[in-house]
Amino acid sequence: MDSPKTLSAPQKALHKLGLESPLSLALHLPFRYEDDTQLTPLRDAQNGESIQFEAVVLSHEVVYRPKRQLKVDVLSDGLTCTLRFFNFYPSQLKQFQVGATLRLKGEVKGGMFGLSMMHPTVQIAGSALPDTLTPIYASTAGLAQSYLRKAVLSGLKKATELGLFETTIPPSLEPPAVWPLVEALQFLHLPKRGTQLHTLQDPTHPAWRRLKAEELLAQQLSQMKARLARSKVAAPALKSSLSVEPPLTSRPLTQALRAQLPFELTGAQERVLGEIAKDLSCATPMHRLLQGDVGSGKTVVAALAAAQCIDAGWQCALMAPTEILAHQHFEKLSSWLEPLLSARGLKVAWLTGSQKKKEKTLSLSEIESGQAALVIGTHAMIQEQVRFKNLALAIIDEQHRFGVEQRLTLRKKSQVGGEASQDELEPHLLMMSATPIPRTLAMSYFADLDVSTLDELPPGRTPVVTKLFAEHKRAELIERVKHQIREGFQVYWVCPLIEESESMDLTNATQTHLELSLALKDLTALGEQAGVSRLDAQVGLLHSRMPDAEKKAVMHAFKEGHLHVLVSTTVIEVGVDVPNASLMVIEHAERFGLSQLHQLRGRVGRGSAASTCVLLYALGEHGRLSETASQRLKAMLQTQDGFEIAKRDLDIRGPGEFLGARQSGASLLRYADPLLDMDLMTWAQALAPKMWAEHAQMALAHLERWQTLRSEYLKA
Ligand code: ADP
Ligand code: MG
Repeated sequence: MDSPKTLSAPQKALHKLGLESPLSLALHLPFRYEDDTQLTPLRDAQNGESIQFEAVVLSHEVVYRPKRQLKVDVLSDGLTCTLRFFNFYPSQLKQFQVGATLRLKGEVKGGMFGLSMMHPTVQIAGSALPDTLTPIYASTAGLAQSYLRKAVLSGLKKATELGLFETTIPPSLEPPAVWPLVEALQFLHLPKRGTQLHTLQDPTHPAWRRLKAEELLAQQLSQMKARLARSKVAAPALKSSLSVEPPLTSRPLTQALRAQLPFELTGAQERVLGEIAKDLSCATPMHRLLQGDVGSGKTVVAALAAAQCIDAGWQCALMAPTEILAHQHFEKLSSWLEPLLSARGLKVAWLTGSQKKKEKTLSLSEIESGQAALVIGTHAMIQEQVRFKNLALAIIDEQHRFGVEQRLTLRKKSQVGGEASQDELEPHLLMMSATPIPRTLAMSYFADLDVSTLDELPPGRTPVVTKLFAEHKRAELIERVKHQIREGFQVYWVCPLIEESESMDLTNATQTHLELSLALKDLTALGEQAGVSRLDAQVGLLHSRMPDAEKKAVMHAFKEGHLHVLVSTTVIEVGVDVPNASLMVIEHAERFGLSQLHQLRGRVGRGSAASTCVLLYALGEHGRLSETASQRLKAMLQTQDGFEIAKRDLDIRGPGEFLGARQSGASLLRYADPLLDMDLMTWAQALAPKMWAEHAQMALAHLERWQTLRSEYLKA
């Protein structure tokens, strides 16, 4: 391959799009078509219609009113039409010689002053009309359609000649109603004159079905391959021991921990623990996703899994995406486990990027010696210098916030003492997520994962009341905030992240912070009037650009009740647990995604008091909410069930975006939609194991063909 330095600009652009091999080019399908195969009589054109027609030049002139422009009058069919060009080169004038016949393409406008067309494409008439529709491809800056089209079509030709589209599916096992791949591609890249545009866009067309089927099969084959590969890798078998003998310190940690929990596990927690315990006791690495709505109690499940690992004499690591969240886990798990561990000469270590050197060095040495049986921290954990003595279980909270790479790295951390050992052991992997994936999607995307689901909330929760407030009722809302504080409760006030501009974000949050600080000064006075002895309403501010240590301090102050109100950008989105917070205000709720809103709402209703979530919204430009925004807000009012929310989110956004946002790096599908193409999905699922068992050669060839596309996604 050429080194990128010697590439021309359009070649570089192709490179950027991942379009280098004939195969990747051939699989880059048009997203729409233009019909240049025929001419439309000018008199048949509708106002605003885009047409191709031929006409004779009557005159041309450069005029300066209202603005410098080239004005060309042409005659076609007895009608005149004025062409206008605002950008033109003197050299272009040549083609507009009076009497020349031109082939023009553009949008016709009819008005008081006759027909006109702005910036049509111009060709000298005379050549034959093409006999296929013109494909239009997704492109990028510096890459002209004509160049891209040529590249794609020559890629298609080359790949066909190289035999890259020969069938990889035994004929008797083909799904119904699909065309052979070459024909499908030929049809989609170069549809014959007369092909209806809606046919080309019909997802049930046999050409599209071929691509979808192939893609879904590739997805299933590769996930199955990963699963098979994993079954050949060894992992430490963490037998759970069930003896229950006093005293506490000599009992297995799992038993001791259970005995001292302040609550009974829910049925769902018991069930998923059973699933996890069974996996952990096997000598092949677990690869399990634990999904459960916010507040469903995943942490204690993680703690008990860690205990099983430690009981077997191995180390466990728990990694969280933010320092706040990691620290919260550290506090909670330490309070549960530290006394039990120290009786065994073990401890819980804390590891994060912002740690002081001395503290970090200590943690690192405890991790290396194995004294740290449990390590909790952020992605600092996957850095080079971290060496585990014997890591056997890696738990990743809010797994979708980590990239694939990061998850893989943690898995590779098990090598004893950091040295390559003869018997390569891989740790078990438990991933946790508060955003449930609907079953239909899970089946497609996680064929390589086992899924455990917490579908029950711990008892004693008071449902959160969700209310919608228009922006003009802000003052009323602030009264509510005061009321909550007087009652001794705390309040979250969330400001939206503004993606384009971090500084705007900050301004927004800072202003709200100031506004509330001022408004709540009143509160002190009122409090005094009401006889409350000195109520200092403290308003804290938390945003993404604060240093970690500061964030932690603010969060700590809120947790300890020193702050009454916490104004925050979405840093509190995941995981934080402050049971005394009973009111959550989400400002500009219309800007948040549905699952984000749901996650945020999950921060309240954690104590026994009745809690409220207020969705404060502002109307858009036209005095209305967008369709999707109102669907999201409506869903929030109608349900609190995380699975239902996920389903609605999926309906609103479609699976591509739904998963794109969540599963960074998950193998996205380009053509198929696992919901719409359920029959092909089922076909692929049934076929994949058979292919590996009976047609392994074809399976490999199939994967190789589609790998091109996958690596492209991973780049994206
Ligand atoms: P999430 O699944 O969102 O991570 P957590 O693990 O933070 O949820 O649990 C939420 C709260 O519920 C915590 O305060 C936790 O101690 C409590 N909790 C967990 N399991 C139970 C249970 N079985 N009974 C009562 N409370 C529980
Ligand atoms: Mg959690």
